[in-house]
Amino acid sequence: MNKRVKEIIDKSYNGALLESQEIRELLELDICSEESFYLAYKARQMSEEACAGKAEIHGQVGVNSGPCSCNCAFCSFAAGNKIFNAQRIESLEFILQQALDLEEAGANAIYLMATAHLNFQSFLEMGQVVQRELRTGVPLIANIADFSYDEAAALRKAGFTGVYHAARLGEGKVTRIDLKDRLQTFEAAGKAGLILGSCVEPIGPEHSHEEIVEKMIVAREAKPGFSGAMRRVTIPGTSLSAHGMLGETRMAHIVAAVRMATPREIPGNCTHEPNVMGAVAGANLLWAEAGSNPRDVVDNTEKSRGYDVGKCREILVDAGWQVLNGPSKFFITK
Ligand code: SF4
Repeated sequence: MNKRVKEIIDKSYNGALLESQEIRELLELDICSEESFYLAYKARQMSEEACAGKAEIHGQVGVNSGPCSCNCAFCSFAAGNKIFNAQRIESLEFILQQALDLEEAGANAIYLMATAHLNFQSFLEMGQVVQRELRTGVPLIANIADFSYDEAAALRKAGFTGVYHAARLGEGKVTRIDLKDRLQTFEAAGKAGLILGSCVEPIGPEHSHEEIVEKMIVAREAKPGFSGAMRRVTIPGTSLSAHGMLGETRMAHIVAAVRMATPREIPGNCTHEPNVMGAVAGANLLWAEAGSNPRDVVDNTEKSRGYDVGKCREILVDAGWQVLNGPSKFFITK
């Protein structure tokens, strides 16, 4: 095995923070090389140690759909992609039922996701109702547009434990969102006591190693409960579809590299969409999805691309993981 690569991987495993150049060298490895498999092996070991051997499944409910003016090229809701032509908000009863179904199936955290178009006040009200009805103490997490400190405090008050938020690849270039706004939101969330979940996303063949490394570092510096990597899912007929999509083996390699680039104090390492290879290579968090979904072209992803909790559990077990019962350990209030 290449001595330098082994040294980089062992350096991270032994607790030191990797430099950009070192992370880049990990990304550059051939995905079928001895070094890449050693990377996956150590990432898996590090992930297992960071979560006491228990992987998690988080369940997300998309509460609305319709054209969104932020126009992120990879998203089915982008107005310019012309997939969804009318605004639609699911009924509160339906959203609640989907959240409770995910909880009952064993999800360790429940997320409510909205497009940037949804009114903040309506979202807060949904959150309050869902939080009141959850039965097992699993944390409620918001996945919404950028927000101010006052809005972060309102989310906390409404019963949200945390937020999922990411500085995406190509921010400001293939989206109308400035990276600076993402960073301000991280800060607002932290100040209001909301725990952050984040990851490097959405990754496609069009992204350079430099940009992937840059976003790994942005994520780790935000000190989230988990990082990880998600691939860009091609929405047919959109501008990015010409690039195609990364394969699961390449994604597993990136997930392993994110684990090594991220300090142990950050226990979670997610991957999306769920797959065995990623879980073997150190992903200890998978996602079940219901309702709307920016990677899907229908309102009910549970009947399309979205996996349910049972399927995520099957994947984790196939990859040799035990699955946590009860509330997530990645969203513990400090
Ligand atoms: S990713 Fe979010 S902000 Fe961007 S277009 Fe889709 S819904 Fe809007």
